[in-house]
Amino acid sequence: MELLDDSIVPEEARAVKADAREFAAEYIAPNAEEYFRSGDYPWDVLEAGQEAGLVAQDLGSEVGGRGLSLEQTLAIAEEFFRADAGIALTLQLASFGGEIVEKYGSEEQKEEYLRPVAECEQITGLAVSEPDTGSDLAGMSTRAERDGDEWVLDGEKYWIGNAVEADWLTLYAKTDDSDDRYSNYSMFIVPTDADGYEAEHVPEKMGFRASKQGHIVLDDCRIPQENLVGTEGTGFYMLAEFFNHGRVIVGGHGLGLAAAAIEEAWEFVHDREAFGRDVSEFQAVQHDLADMLVEFERARALNWRAAKKVADGDDTGYWAALAKTTATEAAVECAERGMQLHGGRSILTDRRIARVYRDVRVPVIYEGANAVQRNLIYRQRP
Ligand SMILES: Cc1cc2nc3c(=O)[nH]c(=O)nc-3n(C[C@H](O)[C@H](O)[C@H](O)COP(=O)(O)OP(=O)(O)OC[C@H]3O[C@@H](n4cnc5c(N)ncnc54)[C@H](O)[C@@H]3O)c2cc1C
Repeated sequence: MELLDDSIVPEEARAVKADAREFAAEYIAPNAEEYFRSGDYPWDVLEAGQEAGLVAQDLGSEVGGRGLSLEQTLAIAEEFFRADAGIALTLQLASFGGEIVEKYGSEEQKEEYLRPVAECEQITGLAVSEPDTGSDLAGMSTRAERDGDEWVLDGEKYWIGNAVEADWLTLYAKTDDSDDRYSNYSMFIVPTDADGYEAEHVPEKMGFRASKQGHIVLDDCRIPQENLVGTEGTGFYMLAEFFNHGRVIVGGHGLGLAAAAIEEAWEFVHDREAFGRDVSEFQAVQHDLADMLVEFERARALNWRAAKKVADGDDTGYWAALAKTTATEAAVECAERGMQLHGGRSILTDRRIARVYRDVRVPVIYEGANAVQRNLIYRQRP
């Protein structure tokens, strides 16, 4: 069954999609179970992805990347997440947040920090969420105070992808206390070897185990004044714009996971007998599979439509939130039904369906919990 067919994918994204599929079959799928079990960071797969030109390549050619478009990055996401969500997230997060530096940073920042990421010598990440605040982007409390020619950072960040492994992060911190809560934040480049930067992994997770998130403590962490990205006080708006692109890609995370659930369920019921016949012959089972396809196909059509809207700058917040919500919830629905169709074997931890079932809990939360997406859909409707 070909679920992720490329007829819906724009012409310019088809070649990279084919490359991503080949890479996923060779490097991601065969390693998925082992990395899920161990919870180790998949450095070898990351390095293979870098060599294949499929990691951090949304960064532009002026800093050494391929300048892959939103649609090309989405095409890669579908294929990678179908093979395994944890490894896929590690590969896709190697440049996470670097796009903000690319858009708003100085030439010096791009040369010093972005080029090594685009040339796959370094990895980075985006530090926004905090232990006490995740959804309320204008409620974060980590502070950055100016002291001579330095910024001094104090506070904590939580759930930060690559907080331990990255060379540097794009970090969101409060620089003002004005009544306009959306103008109180700024973005900074923070090298992870800066004095006052400490990070450790968050506790073991039930899903996305081949990706690593960290808890950062910033204690009198000093960075040079030139590490401010763009204009002071505009961090919230940079982030809002960045997430509109990111949420279309997270829709691709959901589509890949939903495809994996359907494939697994389909194969299982066509190879299992009950009451003297193939389980797939029961109409109720066929309806379950049909409902999974309905969920998947409508989510995919919407996601690719949203990708075009966001790429064109057309009501981006609305379309990005629609896509993210629909595709990530399609994944939850398909995984739930896929588990039921597997009977008792669904809960064997070495089963792909069990891994997918645990992984689908995550994209409905990250890059803005789906409740927050619904707020955006309502408020930003065209
Ligand atoms: C695997 C993983 C990777 C992540 N990677 C990163 C990363 O690299 N960088 C980073 O900065 N963050 C990262 N995050 C954090 C993620 O973005 C947050 O978990 C997410 O934004 C939700 O924040 P929270 O967990 O604090 O939930 P909270 O904000 O505490 O919300 C809890 C729940 O309350 C409800 N809720 C909250 N606000 C509203 C509202 N306004 N309207 C209706 N309901 C609401 C929702 O049901 C929500 O799920 C990651 C998280 C995970 C799980």
